[in-house]
Amino acid sequence: MNIFSGHFRPLGTPAPMIDPFGRMVSYLRVSVTDRCDFRCTYCMAEHMTFLPKKDLLTLEELERLCSAFIDKGVRKIRLTGGEPLVRHNIMYLVRALGQKVRHGVLDELTLTTNGSQLARFADELADNGVKRINVSVDTLDAQKFREITRTGDLNKVLAGIDAAQKAGIHVKLNAVALKHFNGQEIPEIMRWAHGRGMDMTVIETMPMGEVEEDRTDRYLPLSELRRDLEEQFTLTDNDYRTGGPARYVTVEETGGRLGFITPMTHNFCETCNRVRLTCTGTLYMCLGQNDAADFRDLLRSTDDDAVIKSAIDEAISRKPKGHDFIIDREHNRPAVARHMSMTGG
Ligand code: SAM
Ligand code: SF4
Repeated sequence: MNIFSGHFRPLGTPAPMIDPFGRMVSYLRVSVTDRCDFRCTYCMAEHMTFLPKKDLLTLEELERLCSAFIDKGVRKIRLTGGEPLVRHNIMYLVRALGQKVRHGVLDELTLTTNGSQLARFADELADNGVKRINVSVDTLDAQKFREITRTGDLNKVLAGIDAAQKAGIHVKLNAVALKHFNGQEIPEIMRWAHGRGMDMTVIETMPMGEVEEDRTDRYLPLSELRRDLEEQFTLTDNDYRTGGPARYVTVEETGGRLGFITPMTHNFCETCNRVRLTCTGTLYMCLGQNDAADFRDLLRSTDDDAVIKSAIDEAISRKPKGHDFIIDREHNRPAVARHMSMTGG
């Protein structure tokens, strides 16, 4: 619940960030690195060129920028990437933002991870106020897992999920729906997730960045997946929201929740409450558009946070109405050149 969503705003608190379409921006996703230990085929090319370290914001700079956003009314921060847990000393940022949660100025600190390093970090994440995380798992078959991630070890990820649950963190499973890959397996993954008390979300592939594979071959509209699922399960729409774009159903047979993120078949932009910061300090006001604001030079040129905050206001005033992703034979090109690992999923 955002403190500004009621009618009263306590004296001395800043004006909320409202974009030109009347949407309040209260959610910041931060891609803390473009690097990753996996190379998922729909996300990255096999041989990626990563950014030189000097181009990255330091963790202190990221902390400063996140604090400015929190002062401007952001209530939820998600760390993502690339793989957030491979960024050197990432726990520095987690601890700093965890303090904000402790002091009540941030409602939620969360992350999206591939789970490969979770066994190592789960306890520390929990100790620093992380209550929920998303872990991406597209298949429970170890060989297929290696195939889709190119380098990943499913057993490590499963051990990471165990460790997170043991530490008391709520885990939600994310799976990208891929034709000829996991379409048939989604019911089994869902039963497994629900059996372990985890919600699950399925995501449509988005045309972001050049990858080797043909996205038209892989694109599985979730409307199709839902129809298939409805032959086996009773899906009841519900009002559950996590502040993200997923629309949830309750699966009566398992008692668990299944979310659908449908950027392609159902545009969710009208309720968009978020902006995305890359590890180089570029702020994207929309995942599917190229317009952006650079904060790196600004951060390095001034100690005055008021300047940063007015640049945030200026960027929010340019937040576009929405994206228009299309995948078909005529539009078999990325809608935006950057990979998802740059802007953060
Ligand atoms: N490495 C972490 C992970 O995999 O969870 C965090 C970053 S990853 C970019 C975030 C999410 O974006 C993952 O769930 C991933 O499956 C999803 N993703 C990556 N590329 C995508 C694409 N082109 N379309 C849709 N989802 C994508
Ligand atoms: Fe890495 Fe996540 Fe992209 Fe897979 S989806 S390559 S784990 S950033």
